[in-house]
Amino acid sequence: MAKITKLDDIVSLCKRRGFIFQSSEIYGGLASCYDYGPLGVELKNNVKKAWWKATVQMRDDIVGLDSSILMHPLVWKASGHTDKFADLIAECKKCNTRTRVDHLKEKIAEQSQEHTEHIAIDTAIAAAGELSNKTCPNCGSVGKFTEPMPFKLMFETQMGANVDDSMTLQLRPETAQGIFANFRNVLDTARVRIPFGIAQIGKSFRNEVTTKAFIFRTREFEQAELEFFCQPGTDEDWFGRWKELRFNWYTDLGIRKENLRLREHSGDELAHYAKACVDVEYKFPFGSGDWQELEGIANRTDYDLRQHQRGMRTLNKWFENGRDLANIELAEEAGDYQSGPLSYFDDEQKARYIPYVIEPSAGIDRSALAFLVDAYDEEQVRSETRNLLRFHPALAPIKVAVFPLVKRDGLPDIAHNICNDLKKHFNCFYDEKGAIGRRYRRQDEAGTPFCVTVDGQTKEDKTVTVRDRDSMDQIRVSTDQMLSYFREKLET
Ligand code: ATP
Repeated sequence: MAKITKLDDIVSLCKRRGFIFQSSEIYGGLASCYDYGPLGVELKNNVKKAWWKATVQMRDDIVGLDSSILMHPLVWKASGHTDKFADLIAECKKCNTRTRVDHLKEKIAEQSQEHTEHIAIDTAIAAAGELSNKTCPNCGSVGKFTEPMPFKLMFETQMGANVDDSMTLQLRPETAQGIFANFRNVLDTARVRIPFGIAQIGKSFRNEVTTKAFIFRTREFEQAELEFFCQPGTDEDWFGRWKELRFNWYTDLGIRKENLRLREHSGDELAHYAKACVDVEYKFPFGSGDWQELEGIANRTDYDLRQHQRGMRTLNKWFENGRDLANIELAEEAGDYQSGPLSYFDDEQKARYIPYVIEPSAGIDRSALAFLVDAYDEEQVRSETRNLLRFHPALAPIKVAVFPLVKRDGLPDIAHNICNDLKKHFNCFYDEKGAIGRRYRRQDEAGTPFCVTVDGQTKEDKTVTVRDRDSMDQIRVSTDQMLSYFREKLET
């Protein structure tokens, strides 16, 4: 029970302190859509910065990309999303509620809504079995379900103003395909050589059947995806390396090891394109305290590039090497696809091939929720409960808060100047309202690692009090030393 309370605590803290609001709240809210408030947007930006730093900035072998949300419909045809990206659902004839069949099955067994992947429809039909003994999670009726039916997860929209040239497009359900569609462009322009990766952060959209647990599963969300291209045969080695690197990314940013695990997918759980897949899972405080996916790391083989080569062929665009092959399947059998437009010539191996791909695919919103949950703490300080977020400094929305002890004797001016100086380097916040103890508590709840207080002594010896969020220890630091002090503490 304590864990359920904990998610409620997080939700209420997020609302109270301006991390996360319900979307369109003034009109009664829009289900499963959320807005990030002043502290939330800083947290989310910091999660994205930390991912980008570890994935792009600190590596020589990975470059970035920002592809558009709207793409040519053939992209989704080639990737398999148009035909396969659907959940199998059944509708309760009594209350008309639709439920994912795979969730329904699991709910009966484990009373959990959240665990299953989107799985291929044929696998789901086989797994669904008899629905006659299944209970509706909404109204409790037994055996009142319709036959299972596929429910497409991609949102559609219209593009173009004229009737003649308007077309139906999909909002992307993942950012990955924008990377595959730009593989050739990046290869030709960025001086990259295999093994190398292309990284992207951006919004994705899925018309999820069930959305629950705050920002864990929403219909609009942000993903951070890396497609790491390597030579076939080296893929298993890279898969192993990325598993470790991605696990460590979370723990380096403060997630406790006991709350994080890697879970390998079994054969029947694997997506149609994957040779292997492992999920990074976090022990979220939902239900009875469930392990839930934060990130999937998949060995996608050469599936996507191969599919896009086929797609290009459909559009008759495969003229490279003077070839216009009449039958792509025959060409593939003959091994010619290995020299198609999305192939790579490996100078060292003196061979041309379609690279294999390892894909770590993380959810920014889910990670932000995990960082919030893991950082959340309640402490008894004398007769008071202190709520705090023990964020890693890199993630903390505000790094330093600056207060004048009182609103007179020139202290606000000194504090303003200090705050403005520090702002050039870190996100800082000035506050002069209320008792100093209350100002500290507010920053504890926002997860601010340090507070600086300017008092009478500051005018005499140019020192300030620096208070540490976690230990509540206070030390005096000279204003000359302050920047290097914070640099050392915050830039870890
Ligand atoms: P799930 O099984 O939870 O629906 P998935 O296996 O379909 O997720 P992927 O397609 O592997 O998810 O997407 C990669 C990552 O994107 C997930 O690990 C998750 O962090 C994030 N993600 C996917 N769907 C959502 C969603 N509806 N809301 C928030 N984040 C999501």
